[in-house]
Amino acid sequence: MKLVISEKEIAAKRIAKILSGNGVREDKVYGVPVNYIKYNGMDCAVIGLKGHILKVDFPKDYANWFKVDPADLIGAEIEKIPIQKKIIQALKKIADQTTEIIIATDYDREGELIGYDAWQVISEKNKIAPVKRARFSAITPADINSAFSKPGKIDLNLAFAGRARQDIDLIWGAVLTRFISLASYQVKDNFLSVGRVQSPTLTLIVDREIEIQSFVPTPYWIVNVKLKTEKGEEFEASHKKKKFLKKEEALKAFAKIGDRGNVIDVNETVRKVMPPSPFNTTGLIVAANSFGFTASKTINVAENLYINGYISYPRTDNTVYPPSINLKEVVKTLGGIGVFEEACKEVLSRDKLIAAKGKKRSTDHPPIYPTSAAVRSNLSEDEWKLYELIARRFICSLFPPAEIKGISASIDIGGEIFAANGSNVIKKNWIAFYPYYRYEDVYIPDLVKGQRLTVIDRQILDKETKPPARYSQGKLVEKMEELGLGTKATRHTIIQNLIGRGYIRGNPLIPSEKAIAVVKILQKHADRISTPEMTSELEIDMDGIVRGDESKEEVVEKSKEMLKSIMIKLQNEKKEISQEIKKAIKEDFIIGKCTEPDCEGNLIVRVSRKTRKRFIGCSAYPACTKTFSLPQNGLIVTTKEKCKHCDYPVVRIIAKGRKPWDLCINMDCPKKDEKYKNYTNNNRGKKTFN
Ligand SMILES: [Zn+2]
Ligand SMILES: [Zn+2]
Repeated sequence: MKLVISEKEIAAKRIAKILSGNGVREDKVYGVPVNYIKYNGMDCAVIGLKGHILKVDFPKDYANWFKVDPADLIGAEIEKIPIQKKIIQALKKIADQTTEIIIATDYDREGELIGYDAWQVISEKNKIAPVKRARFSAITPADINSAFSKPGKIDLNLAFAGRARQDIDLIWGAVLTRFISLASYQVKDNFLSVGRVQSPTLTLIVDREIEIQSFVPTPYWIVNVKLKTEKGEEFEASHKKKKFLKKEEALKAFAKIGDRGNVIDVNETVRKVMPPSPFNTTGLIVAANSFGFTASKTINVAENLYINGYISYPRTDNTVYPPSINLKEVVKTLGGIGVFEEACKEVLSRDKLIAAKGKKRSTDHPPIYPTSAAVRSNLSEDEWKLYELIARRFICSLFPPAEIKGISASIDIGGEIFAANGSNVIKKNWIAFYPYYRYEDVYIPDLVKGQRLTVIDRQILDKETKPPARYSQGKLVEKMEELGLGTKATRHTIIQNLIGRGYIRGNPLIPSEKAIAVVKILQKHADRISTPEMTSELEIDMDGIVRGDESKEEVVEKSKEMLKSIMIKLQNEKKEISQEIKKAIKEDFIIGKCTEPDCEGNLIVRVSRKTRKRFIGCSAYPACTKTFSLPQNGLIVTTKEKCKHCDYPVVRIIAKGRKPWDLCINMDCPKKDEKYKNYTNNNRGKKTFN
């Protein structure tokens, strides 16, 4: 019997259906669903994993944080630990009857490793069954049938690159996290996570926040007029200087504005706006961010669409369609969906399809494109939103550029020159079908040189320069790609982990006080962990393993050497680090000003000596005995924000298995959500100082 191994249960089901033409017999082995089919006259079992079935970890002797020097982990052996025991049992059971293994996991580093691990597990029971690899970029009948008709070999280099990544991240994460956490006595729920990719990423967010907080706005002034033609057409113009940095100069120009103006020059230009390039993972995350999807939401929804055959594989760097995609066929398929009908008709009316190209080209997967027509009612609202974006992007990437006419006129008013700029789309092309591109015409009338105008209003506006914006999740993923931080498969997870550790929140992303403290310490004592160079160097080395230029052992060894040199410095400065971080963490525990009238104290998180339960108390104790209770589970993150309804401080609670939520500490808050009230009532500590 052939054994087909897929990465997920739903994918296994679909693959079985496609290969057998629907004749699937479902059964369970140790509770794990297995799909039995006939494929080309052969008996075949198709089984779905749950992603990785093994993980890497240190031996048990190294588990105790207090008994093991973090630096000793660098030299420790690494073990593979089963994490999907039922599936491993099932694989071993089926192994007896297996005559051939076909790995059909996702085609990339992680997928190859997942397949390799499954093969290793099976070979403990059955060493003879040969292993083959089916590679595909979409779970559609055409792609699956073609992949299974000529399966290739498993790519050991790709799998070992995946293993190198696992080992390196384990070692770096464990060594640095334990060191910083122990140095600051932040253990258990409160440990301070530090990592090879996450720390430089967090540094980007913190650096931006510091830039925003320390930004000093510069005032400037703008002088505007409202004008009217003889025909009564009204429009606006601004002083050609745009920004006056001195108010007196703005006032001087303003004073010269009379009742009449004179057109001295008119210029017309036509600008081409190129159609959007095909989506890769980063492009999709950025575009979906515009309608409020976080990075991980986009990836999760895209994964569902992929597994169900609606779109091609969503983890890709490629932005150039390969010749193997029949673009015209895809457009014809999409044309059957009502909302895309008109756009598809227009594309198909052209003699030759020319597709837009992005800057990145790779050969493993195509850019993300729709692989079958979806019926809206079969998808969830989020799935449809993302599918529609991907479909529109695909269709629009086949359009010619849009054309926008720009008109700029110079107008003399009392010796001061004003500029009026208008624009309007003269050829819409793709813009007509891509609502995510926001564009508005700016109206100005047809003007001719020498034309007289009447000034009907004048204005002087006080403005000031603004700080740079915080990173949205989309922009952050873009920046990470640019700096070589993480991969298409990991970037969204890194962001999710930083949120889970209470380091960042919101979209755009705001760092917590704790995050700022940790980054400052790393910048001072271990700059190489906070800058992207070393991390991106290791990503390049891992690509070297894929090409066969370097071995997994060499790359892991090199990373250990880097880490050793970092640890030597950290160990030498441990005392200083410990003091600085403790001070910073103390500040992080300040929830806000005490709410008692006339009390100057700060509200801080404390732990009762008697009950070991945590609560909020006032720093002015014993003079002030104000206390608030806190939930006992989860991580508490101070936000420096105040409740909209009662002005009391708000804290953020991050508990396992729940969405992080903001809690007003005031039990009598007028708008307190009943659900939270119950939750906190059951979990609150005793409100006493002892
Ligand atoms: Zn107080
Ligand atoms: Zn409140």
